[in-house]
Amino acid sequence: MRFLILSDIHANLTALDASLAEAKGKWDKAVCLGDVVGYGPDPNEVIDRIRELDAVTIRGNHDKVGCGLTSADDFNPVARAAVMWTREQLRPENREYLEKLPTGPVSVDGFSMVHGAIPDEDEYVVAPAQALDSLLEAPSPLTFFGHTHLQGGFSLGADNKVQMLRFRPPDGEKFMTLGLEKGTSYLLNPGSIGQPRDGDPRAAFAIADADRGEVEFWRVSYEVESVQERMEKAGLPEPLILRLSFGR
Ligand code: ZN
Repeated sequence: MRFLILSDIHANLTALDASLAEAKGKWDKAVCLGDVVGYGPDPNEVIDRIRELDAVTIRGNHDKVGCGLTSADDFNPVARAAVMWTREQLRPENREYLEKLPTGPVSVDGFSMVHGAIPDEDEYVVAPAQALDSLLEAPSPLTFFGHTHLQGGFSLGADNKVQMLRFRPPDGEKFMTLGLEKGTSYLLNPGSIGQPRDGDPRAAFAIADADRGEVEFWRVSYEVESVQERMEKAGLPEPLILRLSFGR
């Protein structure tokens, strides 16, 4: 069974569709680690696409605020402006879809999925010390997480040391493969589809083959300018528009 691992799509339909085109025929089941909406110009279109894919999806912090389950008080002004715009746009059935998304961790056929961290769905895991709790508490040796928009992750082997796996395919290469070792736990981030923050503006996702013990980390170019035009038309904050060009 091959899984398409999507995360942090953030209402960017162009990036999602470019990723789906590249991944076509390479997976059997799709999952999504949350933040379907927020920041980007296409909240309804992206939710429609995720529902068409029948992806196993958990909620992210932007999904919770976008549908009104929680307030935007903890968001910075730019994120807050975008999420309030999102609230106004959502069709009632899509708002309801977000409201009903389950909280991670959720287990799927051989791995677990969470938006932030295993002990706290809203926690950012960027350093080895922050990854330890999730690696120890995960219900399975393989966990996928999102939230940081950084492709890579962490492993915990027999030596009890947390290793940081900060990799992404080099320019000109579309993917790289990680072979999973038995006896090692992994906390892996496929990266963000709609708003990468690791200095590479290409959309990021992963394809996991549990039977072969392999995870491919992908990067796919998309038409950033067309998304920026829609954001401008929608009146979304300028910093969000500009950062897509740089992947920062
Ligand atoms: Zn996010």
